[in-house]
Amino acid sequence: MILQLAIGTAEESVRELHESLEREGLRVLRSRERSRPILAVAGKIPKTLKESLARRTEVETVVQPMGELLLVARAMRERPSIVDVGSVRVGGGTVVVIAGPCSVEGRDHVLAVARQVRAAGAHILRGGAFKPRTSPYQFQGFGVEGLRQLKDAGEATGLPVVSEIMDAADLPAFVEHDIDCLQVGARNMQNFSLLKAIARAGRPVLLKRGLAATVEEWLYAAEYLAEGGCERIMLCERGIRTYEKATRNTLDLTVLPLMREWTHLPLLVDPAHAAGIARIIPPLSRAAIAAGADGVAVEVHETPAEARSDGPQALLPAELVTLVAESRVMAAVTGRALHAPPR
Ligand code: PEP
Ligand code: MN
Repeated sequence: MILQLAIGTAEESVRELHESLEREGLRVLRSRERSRPILAVAGKIPKTLKESLARRTEVETVVQPMGELLLVARAMRERPSIVDVGSVRVGGGTVVVIAGPCSVEGRDHVLAVARQVRAAGAHILRGGAFKPRTSPYQFQGFGVEGLRQLKDAGEATGLPVVSEIMDAADLPAFVEHDIDCLQVGARNMQNFSLLKAIARAGRPVLLKRGLAATVEEWLYAAEYLAEGGCERIMLCERGIRTYEKATRNTLDLTVLPLMREWTHLPLLVDPAHAAGIARIIPPLSRAAIAAGADGVAVEVHETPAEARSDGPQALLPAELVTLVAESRVMAAVTGRALHAPPR
C-alpha cells in the first residue's frame, strides 16, 4: 500500500506516521520523491488500519499497486523517473539510442564502432565482455580485458558505456573499469543473488526482460534492485519466447503502455534480440518509440558476417545513421525529442 501525503506535510508528521506504522510491526519505505512525501507499507495491512490511515488529514491518496510492488510502482513518484547514465538522461521526455557491438571483439574494433556510434548521433555505447552464450563452444567474450577496451572506447568518444554482468564476483572489475551502467541480461533477470549484489553498487542498472518472464516477474526483479538500494533502474523489453519461430523471439510492445501505468521506471526496447534479423529492426524501433519507449538498444558491426556473436541482427554503421534519424522523427511524432549528444 502506498500513502501519498499532502504536499507540504511537515517532516515531523511524516516521521510520526512512519514510526506509528513501524510500531504496528509493518515495514515502511520512503519514496525518493522530493515534491511530496510518499510512504509505502509492505505486507498485509489490517482493514481497520487501512481505513484509519485513509481518514488522516495528511494522507491525500491511498494507492494499492499491483501485487506487492512498492518502490518501482508508479504511485511512488509524481512523474516517471529519469535515470542518469553518465551525462545521458534516460526518460523524462527524450528518446535515447544505445548502440554498439554485441561483443567487444578487440581494442581497434570496439573503438571503430564507438566512433561510428558517436557519429551516427547515438548516446550510449554497448558491448558485451562477459557473454551468455547458448553453447559453451561459442565465443564467451574477453572478460575484464573487454571491459577495459569498451571503457577506453567510450572515453575516447565521450560515450557512457553499458555492459552485461553475469556473476556478482565480477562486480569489482565493473566498478574498477568505471562501467557506467550494468546490464542484467535476459538469462539472469531472476538471479536474485546477482540482483542483490549489484543493487548496492551505486550504478545504474539496465534490467532486461527474461526470456519467458511475465511483466509481473520482471517488475519484481526490478523491485529486488530497488529494495537493495539501487536508485537508477531502467527496464528493457527484448522479446519473449513464444511458439513463433519466424523471429528469434517475439517483441512484446503490447505491454509498454500498460507498464507506464504500473511503474515509474524508464522503459527501453531492444528490437535486435527480439527480431534476430537486422533488416526488420528499423520498423520495430520506430514502433517501439511510437508505443512510448524512452529509447532503443541495437547492435552494430562493420562486417556482420564476421561478428563473433549475433551477426545476423547487427546493423551496418550506415543503417544506424538512418535509425537514429528515424528515432528523431518518431520522438517528435510522440511529442518528445531525441536526446542531445552526450557531453
Ligand atoms: C545482449 O544484450 O547482448 C544480450 C545477450 O541480450 P539478452 O540478455 O537480451 O539476450
Ligand atoms: Mn547480442
